Amino acid sequence: MNCVNAMMTTPLLQVRDLTTTLVQRDGMVPLVRGVSFDLHAGQTLALVGESGSGKSLTALSLMRLLARNAQWQCGGQAIFTDASGQTCDLLQLDNAHMRRLRGHQLAMIFQEPMTCLNPLLTVGEQIAESVRLHWGVNKVAARQRALQALEQVEIPAARQRLDEYPHQLSGGMRQRVMIAMAMVCEPKVLIADEPTTALDVTIQAQILALMSRLQRDTGMSILFITHNLGVVAHHAERVAVMYAGQVVEQSGVHALFAQPAHPYTRSLLACLPGRARQLSLREGHRMVLQDIPGQAPNMNRLGSGCSFAERCASRMALCDVQAPVWQGDDAHARACHLEYRP
Ligand code: SF4
Repeated sequence: MNCVNAMMTTPLLQVRDLTTTLVQRDGMVPLVRGVSFDLHAGQTLALVGESGSGKSLTALSLMRLLARNAQWQCGGQAIFTDASGQTCDLLQLDNAHMRRLRGHQLAMIFQEPMTCLNPLLTVGEQIAESVRLHWGVNKVAARQRALQALEQVEIPAARQRLDEYPHQLSGGMRQRVMIAMAMVCEPKVLIADEPTTALDVTIQAQILALMSRLQRDTGMSILFITHNLGVVAHHAERVAVMYAGQVVEQSGVHALFAQPAHPYTRSLLACLPGRARQLSLREGHRMVLQDIPGQAPNMNRLGSGCSFAERCASRMALCDVQAPVWQGDDAHARACHLEYRP
């Protein structure tokens, strides 16, 4: 127990005031705006929000994998404690050092594995490549480790799959291969960007169960990016809700579902079919699914006030002119002008 507490005191990854700005000819577009969070050893932190809220861009900024066909400016800090206990700022590392960390101590899996796997190489070659690069072992040992990784993710007929190409596998199997590739060098942090969105519900459940088991077995931390609050409820310990490139609420998962403190989080939860069903049954009505009126703001034209103001039922005059400040504590906090009563 003491050991767990000690681990929980020092975050493995401390992100502070992360900003990612797209540089265009006619101006700068701030897409990630002052994101801060801690990820502790063995913890799953979910980054939640609508499409375009900056979740994936946050992850890509941390991994230094932003699209090369655009110009970016990143700011803030991302302090990572590596396996030897050394700390480094991921945003300041030189490219060679970052390449050594990426795929080894920090790994990422993506939503659509077909776009990330090389169609010209066998599954075994792709997994083994990472092992050879990071562990410096020979071909035979790397292939053996690739086989172990495929067995770890419970791919049927793993030895046969080693010599197959991505197009020969189903969507669920390809996602398992992606997880095997990410896990093969035993990372400390796994960033999972909507890893089950492209899969049907049954396979989705299997992949999520697999990730939970791998986390229990290895003690890795997971930064889980999703728009699916049902997944968050079952798989995360802590949640950061993002809107328009900012974190607007952060808390433990139970507190977020029991007492959502930000109007946007409340609106998101109200959209859940389960909640609508509970309310309609209680009130004897037909179930009516809710949505959040309005659109997310244009990131080219953000004003000085709260980004959620146009869609917020609790909007006040102050909300249009002044950015909300954080209220609350480490356990539960939100950015809003409304009086905070935890
Ligand atoms: Fe709504 Fe104002 Fe709070 Fe923004 S700051 S979420 S507009 S009440």
